[in-house]
Amino acid sequence: MSESQARRAIVMEGTGGVWRVRTPDGGEHDAALAGRLKQELKGQLKLAVGDHVTVEPDERASAWRITGIEPRTSVLSRREPGGRYGERIVAANIDQVLVVFAVASPEPHPRMIDRFLVIAEANDLRAHVVLNKVDLAHGEADVEALARRFAAAGYPVHRTSVKRGDGLEEMRRELHGRVTAVTGPSGVGKSSLLNALHPELGLRTQEVSPSVNKGRHTTVGARLIALPDGDEGYLVDTPGLREVGLWGLQLDALDQCFPEFAPFLGECRFQDCTHAIEPGCAVRAAVDGGTVDASRYESYLKLRAELEASDRDW
Ligand code: GDP
Ligand code: ZN
Repeated sequence: MSESQARRAIVMEGTGGVWRVRTPDGGEHDAALAGRLKQELKGQLKLAVGDHVTVEPDERASAWRITGIEPRTSVLSRREPGGRYGERIVAANIDQVLVVFAVASPEPHPRMIDRFLVIAEANDLRAHVVLNKVDLAHGEADVEALARRFAAAGYPVHRTSVKRGDGLEEMRRELHGRVTAVTGPSGVGKSSLLNALHPELGLRTQEVSPSVNKGRHTTVGARLIALPDGDEGYLVDTPGLREVGLWGLQLDALDQCFPEFAPFLGECRFQDCTHAIEPGCAVRAAVDGGTVDASRYESYLKLRAELEASDRDW
């Protein structure tokens, strides 16, 4: 095999054995790990959706050969159900997560949004908050209060309306050339938003299942969906980001999943402060002083209690 036939590709789909890969020209091929690479990896590293690989065509076999894997910039993983120490990589190299919710219909639950944001943080993924359906807002002040809550925590906030077209150009730019996971409660307009940005996606709307699930039933793995028009961006279709991540999270790392706590984390009287009951807690002082939003802090306490309970269950 000549060197010149090797090319870069991205892993779109697969859970082991045969993988669907996409080359920069848009061609998709089935590919399998080359024996030599398999040996090198010795089961230490499993390939994942989103991995950047080198592939070579193999005329004699039905599948192309994957001869190299590039280092990952991020991994989204979940704790293996039924096994305390197991961890499974859901997808690699996700650039950002859009946490979408509606300003009305359904009514937003800030605490639920915080949950999605914590999952993103726990996986070191950059999160954006998207406030959709601004055309249905009860008032401008409501939208701004919500936006401020998340902006103050350090998140980019986008206001959109699929109906009126607000913010769509901005969102198209955010997706361009990046690998994006879209998450949020159902009914908030995730599919509608993606369809408005890229009609060729033809996602079904008003479904109970996550937006980009497009008629698939129980799936274990994630998959990438290439944005049309040679956009060079991808959407990550995962079986529910909300089921991923949180339970792999260490209890003592939860405070790091609230970016606005960061300036205070080294400042508590006790080094192992849980920021719940201890005297001399710098985080609580910041809440009392109005620097940290009190309802964000309540979310922290709620999630903490939840994680404590689940640790006992394991
Ligand atoms: P998903 O479950 O998050 O994917 O939500 P869908 O895309 O299926 O949308 C749920 C409902 O909200 C549909 O009836 C959409 O037409 C409606 N919808 C989506 N975006 C907007 C919006 O910006 N404004 C209004 N008024 N309705 C919207
Ligand atoms: Zn503290």
